[in-house]
Amino acid sequence: MHAYPLCASGAVCNIRVMKRISITRPPLPKLPLEGGCHCGAIRYSVTAKPLAVNACHCKDCQRLSGGPFGLFLHVARDAVAVSGGARDTFRRIGGSGNGINIERCAVCGTRMWHLPEVAPDLVILCAGTLDDSGWAVPTSHIWTECAAADAVAAEDALVVEGFQTTRPALWARFSELYP
Ligand SMILES: [Zn+2]
Ligand SMILES: [Zn+2]
Repeated sequence: MHAYPLCASGAVCNIRVMKRISITRPPLPKLPLEGGCHCGAIRYSVTAKPLAVNACHCKDCQRLSGGPFGLFLHVARDAVAVSGGARDTFRRIGGSGNGINIERCAVCGTRMWHLPEVAPDLVILCAGTLDDSGWAVPTSHIWTECAAADAVAAEDALVVEGFQTTRPALWARFSELYP
């Protein structure tokens, strides 16, 4: 029934079926979307509509975030303008086996974004770094078999065990919900 009992990190996760909830989805704020790290050394603005608001429940994202899941905006790299701030890079291998460079503020350690080596046009931006992140309700959830027992998904969100889909499928759901 569950083809992927192991999450991206190789950890054995509890098998969960996420509950669905009915919500009024917040509108996308006006562009640009502004954000930055905790200490203010790094600031950025996103000048184009994002491609996805994706929640990843894999064990790696739990460790990296210190919380139950990672919440990310997928954004075209040429639509992200970054100012100031030295960044530290940590390279991890994702569930796909591909390298991903994680950049953090060198001063305060805030994790800013993931840069997948196989998708140089893409920024996987940590949504909590947005100045206004309250609208960013996931349009998709992945690795949901690792989700916490109380994790929920909006009834209009795409829910995927493991990463048995392609990024364009996540992007398609976002653009259906934010036409
Ligand atoms: Zn900082
Ligand atoms: Zn993850």
